[in-house]
Amino acid sequence: MSTWSPSSWKTKPITQDVRYEDPKEVDDVVTALSRLPPLVTSWEVERLRELLAEAQQGRRFLLQGGDCAESLSDCRSDIITNRQKIILQMSLVLIHGGHRPVIRVGRIAGQYAKPRSKPTEVRGGVELPSYFGDLVNRPEFTPEARRADPKLLLACYHHAAMTLNFVRSLSDGGFADVHHPEYWDLSFFRQAAVPSELLEEYEQTTRKLSEALRFMEALGERTVADLTRVDFYTSHEGLNLHYESAQTRQVPWRKGWYDLTTHLPWIGERTRSLEGAHVEFFRGIRNPVGVKLGPSVSPADAVRLAETLNPDNEPGKLVLITRMGAQRVADALPPVVEAMRRAGRLVLWVCDPMHGNTVSTSSGIKTRNFDEVLREVEQSFDVHEKLGSYLGGVHFELTGEDVTECVGGAVGITERDLERNYATLCDPRLNYRQALEMSFRIARRMSR
Ligand code: PEP
Ligand code: MN
Repeated sequence: MSTWSPSSWKTKPITQDVRYEDPKEVDDVVTALSRLPPLVTSWEVERLRELLAEAQQGRRFLLQGGDCAESLSDCRSDIITNRQKIILQMSLVLIHGGHRPVIRVGRIAGQYAKPRSKPTEVRGGVELPSYFGDLVNRPEFTPEARRADPKLLLACYHHAAMTLNFVRSLSDGGFADVHHPEYWDLSFFRQAAVPSELLEEYEQTTRKLSEALRFMEALGERTVADLTRVDFYTSHEGLNLHYESAQTRQVPWRKGWYDLTTHLPWIGERTRSLEGAHVEFFRGIRNPVGVKLGPSVSPADAVRLAETLNPDNEPGKLVLITRMGAQRVADALPPVVEAMRRAGRLVLWVCDPMHGNTVSTSSGIKTRNFDEVLREVEQSFDVHEKLGSYLGGVHFELTGEDVTECVGGAVGITERDLERNYATLCDPRLNYRQALEMSFRIARRMSR
């Protein structure tokens, strides 16, 4: 294989490439970005690798979640707080169900770049470039907004830094109410007439969590400090390689290169070509790397990806995020899992039950059905259990807000409700209640 450098990706075909008008302007922005301090540190990245290695062995579970497309305008204290809160609550429920620690990873502080199925969008006879995420252009349907603007790379870096700053402060002792599950509002499950045995289970879970947390508190100051300071890691799709490579550097006392825009970058389903620029870039960094795998992936290609991205088969390095769809998972997942086992590759298996279950309503609104999402998670557990491997995590598009984007769940969102508060810039997310309910249902499956 040819020599890697932070810019060797430029010699490969770039899927989903951005057409900037002025390459000089891009170079100037990249130079500016490369001089700014990193968003995360190498020791955090190494720590996450250790945790992921334990998850591979079935000793931890990964919860990854956040917006499909983060936006600059949503960089607000309430939105960030609510998102942290739901991820934290879900993690406590999963710890209770799975009897193992949960690694919390947000799709945050950098999830600004989106791959699109079509390069342009037509509205009322007008054709403009598609919206590729705030890292590239703006969602408004005007020629100015849709122009690819290199300055957005810097604006997103700044917003990622502000988001992360607030997330770190919140993690460091905030969220008193989350640590008192007895105050969680489960009344909507009651109003929604959830079957009594499920409701009883949910209430029992929060009761037990409260007791456990009070017990920890009673043990003393040190434990409480450990408990309320929650570790939180960031992740995003590493789509725009100008942005990723600008913050990729060597650090004193360590070997190798780190992409310090995030702890856990991942390669999307559309950009995971073995010959492409994205695999080239991500094969050279020390960060753990995720790869999305849809139903079209061949087992042989999946193995080749693992060999290329993790040539020394190091633990904690590779996260395979499968997104097969509830209809396909039972037949599409087993051959990939088996091929990986035959090849002796160390990977962490994670299920993204969102991206294989996107449907359009008759009026053309993108949505996902709660039951289908849950079904893919449950079937993924079944597949891994049957094959003697371990499903070590789940990956959700979710928000802490009361949006109406996915249908179903105890809140009973129907297609007619979708217009009420459909706020996503890209794919539909679980809202606060749907996300909490999802965690109860997964915990139930894990405790079996
Ligand atoms: C996403 O995670 O938002 C996404 C585009 O996923 P995928 O690459 O799996 O389609
Ligand atoms: Mn998405």
